[in-house]
Amino acid sequence: MAGLVRINRDRLARRLSEMAKIGATPAGGVTRLAFTDLDKEGRDLFIRWCEARELSVRIDEMGNIFARYGADDQPPVMAGSHLDSQPQGGKYDGAYGVLAAFEAVETLMDAGITPSRPIEAVCWSNEEGSRFPPPMIGSGVFAGLFDRDDAYARESRDGKKQGDELARIGYRGESACRAGDIHRYFELHIEQGPVLDQKGLRIGIVEGVYGLKWLELTIRGEANHAGATPMEVRRDALAAAAEIITRAERLPADMGGNFRLTVGYIAASPNSTNVIPGEVVFTVDVRSEGQEGVEALARSVTDIADEIASRRNVELKIQTLSDNAPVTFAPECRDLVEQMAAALELPRQRMHSGPGHDAVYLSHVCPTGMIFVPSIDGISHNEYEETTPDDLAAGADVLANVLRQSAET
Ligand SMILES: [Zn+2]
Repeated sequence: MAGLVRINRDRLARRLSEMAKIGATPAGGVTRLAFTDLDKEGRDLFIRWCEARELSVRIDEMGNIFARYGADDQPPVMAGSHLDSQPQGGKYDGAYGVLAAFEAVETLMDAGITPSRPIEAVCWSNEEGSRFPPPMIGSGVFAGLFDRDDAYARESRDGKKQGDELARIGYRGESACRAGDIHRYFELHIEQGPVLDQKGLRIGIVEGVYGLKWLELTIRGEANHAGATPMEVRRDALAAAAEIITRAERLPADMGGNFRLTVGYIAASPNSTNVIPGEVVFTVDVRSEGQEGVEALARSVTDIADEIASRRNVELKIQTLSDNAPVTFAPECRDLVEQMAAALELPRQRMHSGPGHDAVYLSHVCPTGMIFVPSIDGISHNEYEETTPDDLAAGADVLANVLRQSAET
């Protein structure tokens, strides 16, 4: 094994803070939504930096940016993430993964290391999906899981088409948005949860990403007068929903293991103080490491809802809105991340990711791995998201060495 390299932490910090000025919010976050003028500004800056180091830059039909270092004739090692953000999102969510990939490349250049395989720092388009749902569309089209023209046709709430906005900011590129032969892909990202921070660890070796299912439950009872209707004859849709929700929330603890369940959306109608709610719609987001876990949790929610609905004499309809299989990353990529973190003597653990990332889609087309660094207090999708300079440098050190090793094997 070749000796270890260390990234230039001041240069990485400087670039992160310069990128964070684009769309900066008062409390230290960013608002840089996909395919806005600010997104263009961030992309332009990234490309200027890459070209200043004479990397060859390619933009594909979905606006994904690939900055390549090294020989041209072999499947590349790729690393990246995204530069778009949530509204009032964090400055490191995504940008850290893109700029650390570029920093890793620069570190190898500065050390006079010419990799046998090319290395590409990648910026994936519209990872967040907050302006144009769904999320991770750039990497999704690249991996062949979404259709390009369908992605172009998706509209924002203000009626703009994704493809038109991509063209408007000058990033609807020429090269085909399709994965060729890729040796390996790695993504460095902030954890977005509290696990590493709470345990005082520096590096998370991501074994895979939770599977998820979104259920939408519609309960129909009978709207009626709050004063005139005796309690025992009511068919209250909201009271039924409340009972389902409180029972469902206890399921993860009852089932043991790693389960997550969230009711994040609810709408009651007619939503009036003196009317018994006639209809309620709410969603349940269930997640677990394995497909059986996701299915078991979703089934338990359905069973509970059936039982409560029939006891309370209300109608129940359940629809599945989204169904994403869990992902397990390639053993050789996980092992290499662990090996490099160990060589750098960084406290670490293996873990699963709750949130999805571009790496999920890349794992469909090449061996993929992910590296996490701590998020202070686990805060994410929030202006107050923060990671210490030491941890930012540590994650980038791991990535640089992982890329170097991958480019040689
Ligand atoms: Zn992200």
